[in-house]
Amino acid sequence: MGCSIACNLALTAGAHGLRRVVLLERDTLGSGSTGRSSAAVRMHYSTAVNAELAWRSLQIFRNFDDIIGGECGFTRTGYLVFAGADDVESFRANIAMQQSVGVITDIIRAADAAELAPGFAVDDAAGIAYEPYSGHADASGTAYAYATRARAEGVTIRLQCPAAAIETNGDGTRVEGVRTADGDRIATNVAVVAAGPWNARFLAGHGIDVPMVATRHEVLHFRRPLDVVPHHPGGADISNRIYFRPEGQDLTLVGNGNHSDVVDDPEVYAQRASQAFIADVWQRVARRIPALADAELAAGYAGLYTDTPDAHPVLDRVDGIDGLYLCGGFSGHGFKLSPMVGVLMAELVGRGRAETMDISPLRLSRFAEGALNGGGYGFAVLA
Ligand SMILES: Cc1cc2nc3c(=O)[nH]c(=O)nc-3n(C[C@H](O)[C@H](O)[C@H](O)COP(=O)(O)OP(=O)(O)OC[C@H]3O[C@@H](n4cnc5c(N)ncnc54)[C@H](O)[C@@H]3O)c2cc1C
Repeated sequence: MGCSIACNLALTAGAHGLRRVVLLERDTLGSGSTGRSSAAVRMHYSTAVNAELAWRSLQIFRNFDDIIGGECGFTRTGYLVFAGADDVESFRANIAMQQSVGVITDIIRAADAAELAPGFAVDDAAGIAYEPYSGHADASGTAYAYATRARAEGVTIRLQCPAAAIETNGDGTRVEGVRTADGDRIATNVAVVAAGPWNARFLAGHGIDVPMVATRHEVLHFRRPLDVVPHHPGGADISNRIYFRPEGQDLTLVGNGNHSDVVDDPEVYAQRASQAFIADVWQRVARRIPALADAELAAGYAGLYTDTPDAHPVLDRVDGIDGLYLCGGFSGHGFKLSPMVGVLMAELVGRGRAETMDISPLRLSRFAEGALNGGGYGFAVLA
């Protein structure tokens, strides 16, 4: 998010008069959630705001070299969504909503799914949707490409340089600068906080409470038997609470939707997959892809989501402090939104409001208002 926002701010700087953009990174680019992202790029959401963000972002991923330059690694695989009997009604309503905002997706027959994904068990599904244009990208590569373009547009990127504090005027109503951990002071009247799982801690240090929690999530890679499952699209299996996508030549990446542990300090968490997770997810994925029951487990690791009470992000200014903005809380699905998030945050900062689309459902005040975004299947199966 930081790289996308900095790049988009620089690309539009002439129009809104920002003179200098500096990106501060605590460690290295992609060292937070982004570097561990499964980087699925799919459109299946339960709210129009997320579906539209994803659809508009997809157009940037598909034309990345022309728009931003460099490699985002977008790989079109198509995307399948399997729903069980309990979820099929909301699933159908979600497909209709996605189509209404322009997403190309449709409900398909089990026989069509079997053709798209040879070796998959498809007959138990109460509904199956297919997005022909979706796929996955390279999350670290995308961040790096945004950073490279940002640098070319004049952005200064300071690595291993944490922001220590946002400085305000006497009564705390206006941003006046940012102090770095090594003691530098950058004079500025605009600061955008996009610190992923660190957001809540960083802002709490400034007396600002945001309902964001870091949670730990695991991912496994299986080496699949190519004679049985030669290829397959990306997808989500709502009944078995897993998501999957192909990785490289012969791996299938699998994540899950029903385990999450809250992590107090984003710098301290177990980074490897646990035995309990492996046993559980292995059984569940084998219900959808039976040949994986005997596959080799090639890798397992964990990363952090940043959860909000409605699993939707915050893209907003912070009320009461002029010049302070917040971008975060993307749960397990922010990577695919990052191209549009950069565009919209640059509009919000530079022009005073997001113009390309309505992001009011993502305002920070919704939590206090009790106006949470609805929908969802009750768990975060869709990465
Ligand atoms: C296992 C896993 C699988 C996922 N799968 C998908 C998926 O398939 N599709 C999808 O769309 N999304 C997915 N996500 C979610 C997605 O990766 C995140 O929503 C996205 O990467 C969030 O980006 P970010 O820039 O907000 O956070 P981050 O990538 O965490 O970036 C925040 C950065 O801020 C830096 N920072 C922190 N504090 C400071 C400070 N004080 N000063 C300066 N810098 C600071 C950190 O070092 C970090 O680099 C997944 C996430 C995980 C963990």
